[in-house]
Amino acid sequence: MKELKILYLYPDILELYGDYGNIQILSYRLKQRNFKAIIETYSIGDPPPDFKSYDLVFAGGGADQEQEILSQDLIKYKVSIQEAMDQGVFFLLICGAYQLFGKYYKGVNGNLIPGLEIFDYYTEAMDDRKKRCIGNIVIETKLYDNITKIIGFENHGGQTFNVSNPFGNVLVGNGNTFNDTKEGFFMNHVIATYLHGPLLAKNPELADYIIKYCLDRKYKENIILEPLNDEFEKKCREQLLNLF
Ligand code: GLN
Repeated sequence: MKELKILYLYPDILELYGDYGNIQILSYRLKQRNFKAIIETYSIGDPPPDFKSYDLVFAGGGADQEQEILSQDLIKYKVSIQEAMDQGVFFLLICGAYQLFGKYYKGVNGNLIPGLEIFDYYTEAMDDRKKRCIGNIVIETKLYDNITKIIGFENHGGQTFNVSNPFGNVLVGNGNTFNDTKEGFFMNHVIATYLHGPLLAKNPELADYIIKYCLDRKYKENIILEPLNDEFEKKCREQLLNLF
């Protein structure tokens, strides 16, 4: 039986607005097709994970305080994370985790939380903590050759600058900064985004993009995923898109 090994980083610290749902969706969509999902977790105090032994690494969002708690721990793994990324392991990073893979996060009080510096972007919070990008968001992106709409929910004070390859064009909502035209960061096997949702529950096509990438890479085949019955998901998406 083909399987994917997923590493869920800091589940006890980084989890906002149902981010764990992304793991559940990946497991569900794998199991429906008779693939096995092996989910392992890592948090502060656990033995160091061998990042390159995983097919996918996932981390969710967290408030500034949480980011502060774990950033030093995460930075210990910079070399190992970079190595896994260079070897093509898929990284799905939501909001707070998205920010921590950049150069730094500067909080409301000017406090600097160092990032992994894997990517060149950096994030700075607005001076006024009440000024946040909050609400539903729809972006348009290209997955393989398909232009598709990705639906989510954003809630971040951080404004992310210097993003070389955005995840998508904003149709509704803010994105990387207030009223931005671009959202997130995208690089074939790295998706870093402000979209909670949970992201993959609202966007089954994106979940399958990730699953296919990971299976193709692991088994060195062009795997055609069996279509699932996504009627319910489609109806939900229509409802949400009609709101705008
Ligand atoms: N602390 C970050 C911010 O407010 C991230 C928040 C989040 O992960 N939703 O910008």
